Amino acid sequence: MIHFQGVSKVYPNGVVALNKINMFVDKGEFVFLVGPSGAGKTTIIKMIIRKELPTQGVIYIGRKNLVRMRESEVPFFRRNIGVIFQDFKLLPNKNVFENVAFALEVIESSRKEIIKQVPAVLELVGLKDKAHLFPSELSGGEQQRVSLARAIVNRPLLLLADEPTGNLDPDTSWGIMDLLLEINKRGTTVIMATHNKAIVDKMRRRVVALECGRICRDDAKGVYEL
Ligand code: ADP
Repeated sequence: MIHFQGVSKVYPNGVVALNKINMFVDKGEFVFLVGPSGAGKTTIIKMIIRKELPTQGVIYIGRKNLVRMRESEVPFFRRNIGVIFQDFKLLPNKNVFENVAFALEVIESSRKEIIKQVPAVLELVGLKDKAHLFPSELSGGEQQRVSLARAIVNRPLLLLADEPTGNLDPDTSWGIMDLLLEINKRGTTVIMATHNKAIVDKMRRRVVALECGRICRDDAKGVYEL
């Protein structure tokens, strides 16, 4: 599903963020991307959603070669990918329902579809009763669950999570992990960049460890550090 072949990324200021990365992620996998700050985790995520292009190498997502993809194809391509971030990135002037509905409005879903899908996904993340509240009225964990609902309401094939538990306490973080596992069980491929050692060590999933832009470890049932 995701194939990085000899991918390097040198930012315009000369920083080498990734250095000849080879990585294959199969459909349905759950992968942790770990490594110190600056190792290149976010750069990998940005390349998968084609926010950044490699300076060398090729990236395939499914059959799509991202290097050759035309700009005009990018919005349609991104419909198959959900993304969540450490800082939630919710719209402050929209309530929970509207934040999630917005993801469907931008892809021109029908009102009927919105009224069906949004409550269903809010139920899945346990926020059905808070649909009318605004982000400022929610805890951090609840805000992350809204952003997760928004990311998956369109049933993407792939979910990317960049430090999703970075702003959450341990208990709340486990709640988010349970949801990510459930989403993965339903068939969505999940890639999660994280610093959360406790979570990585407990889950024993595939761990791709980066250091200075290189993959230094790729273990099927890995831990945070050796
Ligand atoms: P991580 O997510 O592992 O912390 P990043 O992918 O954000 O790592 O960054 C990798 C390296 O690339 C770092 O040295 C960072 O400073 C640099 N970098 C990231 N984004 C940019 C950018 N837009 N311009 C220049 N350098 C960048």
